[in-house]
Amino acid sequence: MDHIDELARALARFPGIGPRQGKRFVYHLLTAPAAERTKLAALIASLGNEVQQCPICQRFYTSTSASICHYCADPRRDDALLLLVEKDQDLSALERAGTYRGRYFVLGGVLTLSGKGSIREKELLQAIEKRLHPDTPGQVVLKEVVLALSATSEGEHTADRIRQLLTPYRDHLTISTLGRGLATGSELEYSDAETLRAALSNRREA
Ligand SMILES: [Zn+2]
Repeated sequence: MDHIDELARALARFPGIGPRQGKRFVYHLLTAPAAERTKLAALIASLGNEVQQCPICQRFYTSTSASICHYCADPRRDDALLLLVEKDQDLSALERAGTYRGRYFVLGGVLTLSGKGSIREKELLQAIEKRLHPDTPGQVVLKEVVLALSATSEGEHTADRIRQLLTPYRDHLTISTLGRGLATGSELEYSDAETLRAALSNRREA
């Protein structure tokens, strides 16, 4: 296959990028300085070594000597609260807003109405079990799961599936969703800090 086409196709597999944009990227790269291309290629090649996934919240973070990420390691965060997001970028947006002080779990996707997509169901249930029965003495037991999903039909559908998964725990857990303030169809990642703060403080049982 033609080299330009092959790279364009590889780029077109990125979320939100189609074949035409893939081609635009290739032509952009062709006009960029060779050093820039080399640096980009090296950054991509080293992603696997330089980034690790937190076994507790599942987020990706730049490798450190620590085996878990700094949000999970922080003893000042509230273990009674576990907030579920679709993707790492949503977690970053919430951290930028700076009001949430509980724990996180990254679902790693959403479920579509047509049955596509996947979320980390097994890992989520393990995380919840561990937080309901902590083996660290003195650790506060989980009380509330906050569904911080996008206000889209996929977000709703994913929330329904999580409610179904958490049915056996309903006697011990409150499940809440973000309050109004997030416009319909808006994605967490692109919401401003004020909107996220309002949505968090107005969260309601659901
Ligand atoms: Zn973590």
